[in-house]
Parts: sequence; C-alpha cells; structure tokens
Amino acid sequence: MASVIQREPKVDEIVSYNPATGEEVGRVGQSSEGEVRTAVERSREAFHKWKKTSFRERRALVMRAREVILAEVDGIAHLISAESGKPFGEAIAMEIAPVLDLMQYFGRRAQSILKPKRINIGLYATMGRYSKIVHHPLGVVGIIPAWNYPFSIPLGEAVMALMAGNSVVIKPSELTPLVGVKIGEIFEKAGAPEDLIQIVSGDGRTGAALVDAAPDKIMFTGSVTTGKKIAAAAAKNLTSVVLELGGKDPMIVFDDANLELAAGAAVWGAFCNSGQSCSSVERLYVHESIADKLTKLIVEKTRELKQGSGDREDVSIGAMSSERQLEIVQDHVKQFREAGAKVEIGGRISIQNPKSKIQNLFYEPTVISGATNDMLPMQEETFGPTLPIATFKTEAEAIRLANDSEFGLTASVWTRDYSKGQRVARQIEAGSVCVNEVLYTHGIGQTPWGGFKNSGRGRTHGAEGLMELVQPQHIHVNRFAILPDAWWMPYSSTAVETFRGFATKFATGSMRKTSLLIPQLARRVWELVRKKK
Ligand code: NAD
Repeated sequence: MASVIQREPKVDEIVSYNPATGEEVGRVGQSSEGEVRTAVERSREAFHKWKKTSFRERRALVMRAREVILAEVDGIAHLISAESGKPFGEAIAMEIAPVLDLMQYFGRRAQSILKPKRINIGLYATMGRYSKIVHHPLGVVGIIPAWNYPFSIPLGEAVMALMAGNSVVIKPSELTPLVGVKIGEIFEKAGAPEDLIQIVSGDGRTGAALVDAAPDKIMFTGSVTTGKKIAAAAAKNLTSVVLELGGKDPMIVFDDANLELAAGAAVWGAFCNSGQSCSSVERLYVHESIADKLTKLIVEKTRELKQGSGDREDVSIGAMSSERQLEIVQDHVKQFREAGAKVEIGGRISIQNPKSKIQNLFYEPTVISGATNDMLPMQEETFGPTLPIATFKTEAEAIRLANDSEFGLTASVWTRDYSKGQRVARQIEAGSVCVNEVLYTHGIGQTPWGGFKNSGRGRTHGAEGLMELVQPQHIHVNRFAILPDAWWMPYSSTAVETFRGFATKFATGSMRKTSLLIPQLARRVWELVRKKK
C-alpha cells in the first residue's frame, strides 16, 4: 500500500496531510515532555487568576471567541475539511454551528446551572440547620480529543471548562494538529489571558505526558484501548477522567415506521463523516416484513451520493481520515462477505484520481444485507462508511440484538407509535437514545453526552457535563448554635437512650414519630448543659 507521507517529518515535528489529496496541510512542532509539564504548571498559575473572575468576564471571553469564529467560518471549515477529509459543508453543519450554539448556551447559562443550591436535609432542618452546595472549579483541565470532530469536541469541552472557572491544556490528535492550533489562535484573538488556554502538539506520547503532568481532570475522547491506558495512568495521581469512547450504535426500524424518513436517516447516520462518528449508525435492525423495501430505499439513496474531495460543495462523502481506518473497513467488509452477508452497493475503494501515486483513502458508501450478530464486524467498531442490515421478528428480539454489544453510546428507534418508541428506548443500554432521529444529539450541547458499558465513563455537555468540571462543596450552617448537640460527649445512659430514639424515631423521617423524642432529647441536652456548668 502506497503511503500518503511524501517527505519525512523531522523527529520533533508533526506533518499534517490532506487525506483526500495527500498534500501537506502544514506542520507543527512536537511538544516535549518538559514542555507539556511547563504548560500544565503555567496553566495552574493562570487558573489561580481565572477562578476569581466573574461569570460575566468569562462569558465575555467566550462570546468574543464566538465572534472570531463567525468571522472565519469558511476558513475554519476548509481547514477541518483539509485535515480530516470530511466535506466542507459538513464541517460547518456538524462542527462549527453546534459549537457556536454550545458557546452561547454555556456562556449564558453556566452561572445559573452552577449557582449555589439549597439541599433538603429533612428533619435536621427542624434543629435550625441548613445546607447548600456551592461549586468550585477544579484547576487545570487536560483535553485529549480524537481526530473525527477535531474542532467541536475539544472546543466545546474547553468552553465549558473555562465557564466553570478552570484553565485548559489541549493535546489535539496528531492527525488534525492544525485545527488544534486554530483553537488556540481563536482564544488569542479573543484576548484570553496568557496561558489560560494552551495547545500542546504531538501524538500519543504527548498525550501521555499531559496525563503524567497531573492536571486536575482529563477529558478524553478516543478508543477503548487508549481510554484504559489513560485511566490507568491517571490513577497514579488520582486524576479523575471523563472517557468518551467508541460505539457500535444500533438503529431499530419497526414495521410502522415512516420508511422514507428512516432510509434517509440511515444513509446520513451511517455515511456522514465517512462513517467516522462515534455515534454513526453501525448496525441497522429492521422488522423482517419491511426489510426488502427499506433496503431498496437505502440503496437508491446511497446511489445518489457524490463522493470526492471535501472542499467541493456538492460532495456528500469525502475521504477517510487515515490508512488505518481504511484497512479496518476493508477487513470488515471482507469478513461480512466471507460470513455470507451480501454487499448491495459499494464494498470497494472509490477511485477518485487514478493518476495519484498516494494511497486512495476514499471508500464507497457500502450497504450490506443479511448481517447477523454473530458476524465479527457486527460486534467491533468499524468507524467507516458501512451500513450492515439485519432483521428481527419481535420487539423483544430487536431490543436483545441492539443490546448484544460491549458498547452503549447512542441508539435510535423508528416507529410512528411514540409510546412504543419510548418504551423501547428505555430498554436500550445506551447513553442517548433517539426516537425517529439519528446521530445528531452531540450537537445539542444542552443535553448530556456519554456512554454506557465500554462506550465511556462520565458525561460531557449538558448540566451533567458541566458538573464534571467542578467540585461540589457542602456548606452546613447551624442557626441554632446556643445549645450543645445531643450526640456530643460525654456519653451516658441518657445519651444511649436518646441515640436509640434517633434510630427508631428520628431516622424514620416522620415528624410525628420524631416529636415523641422531644422529652428524651430535652433530658439529654439538659444533662450536657448541666455538666458544662
Ligand atoms: P485514539 O484512542 O487512537 O486517540 C485519541 C487521542 O488519544 C489522540 O489525541 C491520541 O494522540 C491520544 N493518545 C493516544 N495514546 C495515548 C496515551 N497513551 N496517552 C494519552 N493520550 C494518548 O482514538 P482515535 O483513533 O483518535 O479516535 C477514534 C475513536 O474515538 C473511536 O473509537 C471513536 O468512537 C472514538 N470517539 C468517541 C467519541 C465519543 O464522544 N464517545 C467521539 C469521537 C470519537
């Protein structure tokens, strides 16, 4: 296989290539371990100033950064497309627009989500006490993203971290380093304080150095294998991690679904970003009675798609991002064929430029019928433009097949019966389940994002995601601090009798039962007061 690499990079630099053309997009220096450590130290200094800022000041920075992006939408989209291979329009629709929305949302709403909250402490309140939660930032947040959404994922996480009062160090993927550098430039232009948001460049070694430099949180997006390595390395410093990992997302189509819509959704859900989305439709389960009809519709829609270089506006499917991904796709399609499934359309490399000497990274959108869960590529993440279709007979079977996976990131259910849709959704083991929609909910920054099972730990986005970036502090106030507490020392038989009452009356949560304890409580407190005298 010919290589996309045309000229050797220097040892200490990363070269970024356009996967559609093999041309160099640019190069960046590889940050050394020492540089990464220094970045984290400087980040911590920046944090100590930033944590004192008001939400208004934080919002102002985020909104200025938004303006910088808005002024450069096309330029940023072309850079994303050039480094990742995805169509230029898709970069706008699926990266820039959603992250702009996330920025305005958390810019405006972080303050109210994080405002101090009173807690109902039940009968303790009758003793003149109250409790509230206040949220403190964590410190330095290290962000290690994948290459498939190189702009929206790290930028969205960075914005949420900054709004919560943290500083940020991002280590972009080595396949998309210039998009990472661009994020740094955006904040520089927006007037971010020095070292508040830093970019360190490099491959997995730089990522490992960032974990070892002991930031206060790691936000990781990538494979299960790397996620496990990061969790193990982070454990050495007790650094907490959010892991956004792989998926093998099922789409279930019932016989009462709108088939035209379901077919369009399946095509977009499986093939956008050349199938390289963690929430791509990777398995389609259709009721056997409509399987032929739906498959035909999907094949027709797939035939209409134009494939080519991502900088063209009429292109729906660009190049895959790397040879490694292409090889996995080829291997999975081969395995499907060998196991007896049928390739309905696609199933091969798409020749775009026959004269090109570099490895062609375009793979045709591929629809496969007759798939079953015992075929290996129905279990492993493909991360490519393939849509295997399997059938089911009953609702219970559809749920069982969908849950038969180590992953649980997203899923979708298609039916005109909304209560059935939601009933099925609740039984699917996945972090997000859509009824009559696919894939796009990562774009709704207001909602939590994260996986069940091996698809991850913790959440990004939504209030739940913001809470990952703060530490809660409980403040408890006794407004009745004139008498000793009944459970203080010294103990006595009166004390033990009172404690029994706590266990049998107070701990029931019943005001009526607890009121029976009042005489005993008074004896005990009087005992303590007398002793003091
Ligand atoms: P990857 O695990 O190879 O790399 C991800 C990042 O980790 C890169 O920046 C890489 O340089 C870094 N890295 C590698 N080794 C490291 C180490 N030992 N220590 C620290 N950092 C290290 O993943 P990838 O190929 O870039 O991304 C594809 C995967 O990402 C797929 O499995 C996909 O499903 C997943 N993904 C998940 C989500 C989600 O939200 N759940 C979103 C996008 C992608």
